[in-house]
Amino acid sequence: MRTQIAAANWKMNLSIEQAESLTDQLIAGEIHTSAHQLVLLAVPFPYLLTVKNKISKQSGVYVAAQNCASTTNGAYTGEVSAEMLKGMGISYVIIGHSERREYYHENNQILAAKVNMALEYGVQPVFCCGEPLSVREAGTQNSYVETQLKESLFHLDKEKLRHFIIAYEPIWAIGTGKTATSDQAQDMHAHIRKVIADYVGGEIADTVSILYGGSVKAANAAEIFGKKDVDGGLVGGASLVASEFNVIINSLKQ
Ligand code: PEP
Repeated sequence: MRTQIAAANWKMNLSIEQAESLTDQLIAGEIHTSAHQLVLLAVPFPYLLTVKNKISKQSGVYVAAQNCASTTNGAYTGEVSAEMLKGMGISYVIIGHSERREYYHENNQILAAKVNMALEYGVQPVFCCGEPLSVREAGTQNSYVETQLKESLFHLDKEKLRHFIIAYEPIWAIGTGKTATSDQAQDMHAHIRKVIADYVGGEIADTVSILYGGSVKAANAAEIFGKKDVDGGLVGGASLVASEFNVIINSLKQ
């Protein structure tokens, strides 16, 4: 079975005390992961090591960064490089979240450079894609997402896409309480897998974990994660409440 992933995206939320308390609550809720399941906690940069140390004994649970630089180390004030993440033992990084694309003008080319940096240092990207509402209303979401994938990922050697992690996040569903239906998620995930299969072949495409993101919560996770091509979720708001996120973890395919 493909790796099934529950990824929390804390964004720029929580004080350090709240971050520690949320981590403690998640652990107290008992996170059980099977061999094909993974839990990621994408926390703000300053909290990476604190949370990492707290979860070190939890099997299948890892911290992730929410971003990395598109360049190697150097005179880039305020940036954090993939090499620095690797040096801190961080093995996962979100790349291309819609908030980075919108507020920090990260286009497909910049994201391709970030993906390259992460892979060069052995940090696994969680690559986000997804369309805005206007594109969904025009019915052109498939080609929009296809372009995002092609321009940021399809320069990579095929083997680099084996066990890759992609998060499909329709922008109109992020933080809005408006979730894509499980059928809408499945349709797009199947499309993404086909686009990848056309590039690298079906055997590798079948190993790619495709997460859904957009107002996932305890009440809807099982239905969405139950779809054939949905391999878990990237979760914002609901990941800040331990009881919600623990249910979401337990909603991953067994
Ligand atoms: C996200 O931040 O990636 C996200 C999907 O947020 P939310 O779950 O709050 O919609």
